[in-house]
Amino acid sequence: MATSGIPHRYTLGVLHGDGIGPEIVPAAVLIADTAVAATGAPPITWEELPLGRRAIEELGEATPKATLAALAETDGWLLGPHDSASYPEPFRSELNPSGTIRKHFDLYANVRPAKAFSGDAIAHGTDLVIMRENTEGFYADRNTHLGTGEFMPTPDVAVAMGIITRTACERIAREAFELASRRRKKVTVVHKANVLKLTTGLFRDVCRDIARHYPDVEVDDFHIDAMTVHLVRRAREFDVVVTENMFGDILSDLAGELAGSLGIAPSLNASQDRAMAQAAHGSAPDIAGQDLANPVAMILSTAMLLEWLGTRHQDEALLRAAGMMEAGVAATFEQGTSTRDMGGSAGCRAFADAVATSIGLL
Ligand code: ATP
Repeated sequence: MATSGIPHRYTLGVLHGDGIGPEIVPAAVLIADTAVAATGAPPITWEELPLGRRAIEELGEATPKATLAALAETDGWLLGPHDSASYPEPFRSELNPSGTIRKHFDLYANVRPAKAFSGDAIAHGTDLVIMRENTEGFYADRNTHLGTGEFMPTPDVAVAMGIITRTACERIAREAFELASRRRKKVTVVHKANVLKLTTGLFRDVCRDIARHYPDVEVDDFHIDAMTVHLVRRAREFDVVVTENMFGDILSDLAGELAGSLGIAPSLNASQDRAMAQAAHGSAPDIAGQDLANPVAMILSTAMLLEWLGTRHQDEALLRAAGMMEAGVAATFEQGTSTRDMGGSAGCRAFADAVATSIGLL
C-alpha cells in the first residue's frame, strides 16, 4: 500500500496485439511513463507478452497459456486490439484473445467512458460512462462452457441464446452505482423488458433493487431503442449507463462517436481484483503500419488502469499520473494537434510526443 509510506511498485503486462496495436500500445506506455515520472513515483515495470498473430506464428496459440499465467502475476495489463477475423483456421473459429482473457479472469465489468474533448465532438459536453456487463447476455462466446451459445439444428436455421443471471446483474449494478456515487450521482438502466421480458426484465429489476442501497443516486431506465434516440438528442444529460453485454457494445460505439471519434473511446475490463486496459476500437488493419493510428483511446484506457490501481492501493501519486495523462491529451487537442481521423495531420508517434510534451508543461 502506498499509504504505508513505501510506494507500491507496479508491474504491468503489455500485449501489443495485431494491426495498429504495436503502434498505439507503445504510445500509451510512453505517456504512462512520462506521467508517472512527473509525479516522482517509482517507474512502472512493463512485461511484454506474446498474443495474437505473432503468438500463433511463434507459439502455435493466439492466447498462449504462458501469457495467461504471466498476466496473473502482474498488477494489471494493456491489451492491444486483435484482428482475429484474419487468423488462419482453427484459430479464427476459437474464442478470440480478448474474450479468452476476459473469461479466464472473469473481468465482468466493461467500463466505457465517452467524454467529449474540445473540437470535433458531435455531442458537445458529453461526459458519460457505459457500464457494460461483460460475461453473459446475448453474446454467444461468453455464455457457455464451450464458448458458444449458438447452434444450427438444420443448415437453414440458426439459434442464439442469451443468459442473464441475478448474480451477474447484481455485481454490475453495484459497480454502476458505486461509480455514479463518485460522479454526478445518476444511473440509467438500459434494457428491452417490453419484449425480452424475462431476461432483460430481470436485469432491470435487479438494478432497481440495488438502487435502493444508494438513496443519493438518481435512477431511471429506458428501452435500448429509445435510449439511442435520447443519446443522440441529449447525451450530455447522462452520467452512468448500466446495461447488458450486447446493448452495451452497441451503445458504447454510438456514445464514443458522439463524443468525437472511435479513436478516442477508451475502456477498462475489470473484476474486483484484476483490470485490463483495452481501447474500444478494433485493430484497424486498413491503416496499420502507416503511423496513422490515433493512440488516444489506448492512452486513456491506460489512464483508467492507473486510476483503478491508484484507487485500489490508495496511491495518490498514481491517481495524479492518471489525471495528468488525461490532461495531457486534452491540452494537446487544445493546441490544435490531432491525428487524421479527427481532422488533423499528426502521426501516431508525433501525437504521442506532443502529449508527452504537454504533460511536461502541466
Ligand atoms: P473489430 O471487429 O475488431 O472492431 P472493425 O474493422 O469493425 O474491427 P475497427 O478496427 O475499430 O473496426 O475499425 C473501424 C474503422 O475505424 C476503420 O476505418 C479504422 O481505420 C478506424 N479506426 C479504428 N480505430 C482507429 C484509431 N485508433 N485511429 C484511427 N482510426 C481508427
